[in-house]
Amino acid sequence: MLLNELTITQAREGLDKKKFSAMDITKACLHRIKERNEKINAFITVFEETALHEAQIADDMIARGEIYDLTGIPFSVKDAICTKDSRSTGAGKILDDYVPPYDATVIKKIRKQGAILLGKTNCDAFGHGASNENSMYGPVRNPHDLERVSGGSSGGSAASVADNMCVFSIAEDTGGSIRQPASFCGVVGLRPSYGRNSRYGIMPMASSLDTVGPITKTVADLAVVQRIIAGHDIKDSTTVTNNVPEYSQLLHKSIEGLKIGVPKEYFEIDGMDSEIKTIIKNKIKNIESLGCEIVSVSLPHTKYAIPVYYLIVPSEDSSNLGRLDGIRYGVQAEAQNLHDIYTKSRAQGFPEEVKRRIMIGTYALSSGYYDAYYRKAQKVRTLICQDFERVFEQVDLLVTPTNPSPAFKLGEKKDDVLSMYLADVFVSPSAIAGVPSMSIPVEKTKKGLPVGLHIIGPRLFEGRVMQLGYAIEKFNN
Ligand code: GLN
Repeated sequence: MLLNELTITQAREGLDKKKFSAMDITKACLHRIKERNEKINAFITVFEETALHEAQIADDMIARGEIYDLTGIPFSVKDAICTKDSRSTGAGKILDDYVPPYDATVIKKIRKQGAILLGKTNCDAFGHGASNENSMYGPVRNPHDLERVSGGSSGGSAASVADNMCVFSIAEDTGGSIRQPASFCGVVGLRPSYGRNSRYGIMPMASSLDTVGPITKTVADLAVVQRIIAGHDIKDSTTVTNNVPEYSQLLHKSIEGLKIGVPKEYFEIDGMDSEIKTIIKNKIKNIESLGCEIVSVSLPHTKYAIPVYYLIVPSEDSSNLGRLDGIRYGVQAEAQNLHDIYTKSRAQGFPEEVKRRIMIGTYALSSGYYDAYYRKAQKVRTLICQDFERVFEQVDLLVTPTNPSPAFKLGEKKDDVLSMYLADVFVSPSAIAGVPSMSIPVEKTKKGLPVGLHIIGPRLFEGRVMQLGYAIEKFNN
């Protein structure tokens, strides 16, 4: 096995036993990036020089016995997350030259352990998209089939882990951006509960939905990273002060007797891929054979999730993205007056999809339309939240497919905005409700494309979500 292919658990063991050094793993990852990034386009920026320097620091830490879970482990970060002194474009040209003066809180926590930042991963610009085709730095290709999309918006993060260019990645999920690409690329991705992980330093998209979480090769790795990045942060007032459990220990708890809900609405979608349906139904049988009770449940407002999402998100977007105007930072277009600086910088610096969202959001919030669109969407959002609250009185967890189809072809949905939005039909409801959810790879289609199983838990029950994920992963291997 090559060093870049190791999981966190395997790398930790080898590093601790001095079988190899942090420098060795870092060089193996950088080599893989050189070999593959031209084809896959997972990274927008690679920090070769600083990564080698950080590897040396990690090896020094290990030599003096200062060892944490992530000391010496190379990772990648979605480009919409700020990294100190390291270019962070958000995949939008308006921030082409932006170098943040600080690390996002989650990144600070990871780097404090002596993990090695390899580079910044490609994504749909500022998180807007489900295929990575809205990046202004070109699309990311799926490592399992280069003609297909990686998913989005965190496609570069998912592809970088799936293609073993790094050991794990940190990404952002507003309405599926961690889970959907994780599922398309065959890796594990967690969207934590809203309020569990600090968003300080994450480029904001829709503040009432934005979350940040890990993408890893295994559930055990995910538990390690999530334990480190979770917790209250005075710099993000939405973070909760609840205790962060020792997720790695929870993984070994038996799942026997857990009640697992299967929402019927997630299997009745028009155009759902029949192979995915069969694979997921078989997995549910496996879960039953592990001693869980399977319960058919209903989340009746599921069908409103996409319309609600595409009103609330653009509305919040139109406000959040107002800060990107070419004045205080980022790329300023050449222009004669202030008004033209704003309009030209934004016209040149945002891709079409971002402009579309800003226009929809500005419209939905405008006087006379606010009640009809934004307020109504918020009311339906409450109904969606109540669906989840009600169902979690009956069951411990929910399982669904992550996506209605496997990774689609590049260009297939690019000009069909609605069908692109519908790709998120299973991942947006839990995002709207703020509950934790995770995608784990379970099987491949006949064409060799990964299929993800989606596990949804009650608020702040990430540990239980991982517990089931771990049991399924063990069963599969
Ligand atoms: N596909 C969703 C969107 O375009 C995902 C966004 C996200 O989670 N960042 O809004």
